[in-house]
Amino acid sequence: MSRDTEKKACYCAERGNPKMKEFFADIPDGYCGICDVCGEYGHMMAHPRSPTTGSWCDEHYEELLSYKIFTLNDIVSIAFLIAILLLATIVIYSIW
Ligand SMILES: [Zn+2]
Ligand SMILES: [Zn+2]
Repeated sequence: MSRDTEKKACYCAERGNPKMKEFFADIPDGYCGICDVCGEYGHMMAHPRSPTTGSWCDEHYEELLSYKIFTLNDIVSIAFLIAILLLATIVIYSIW
């Protein structure tokens, strides 16, 4: 087992398990799942922040790890949008 598989604790470790033979039938060596996002081969493992299991390719797993519900950027753009709307409302009212 490589250090990478240990770190991710994915189902690659189950490849030798005869009960999992059918599960791995369609999945090539070095992978243990099919990405839920893009359909590429990836790894099946626990979701980093929710109590579910899913499959992700390396790219989408990284994305999952870096994803935050509200980033500073989001807050800034939302605040900006609200400011624009307020301004528009004020302009419309002052015209009337
Ligand atoms: Zn794996
Ligand atoms: Zn993917």
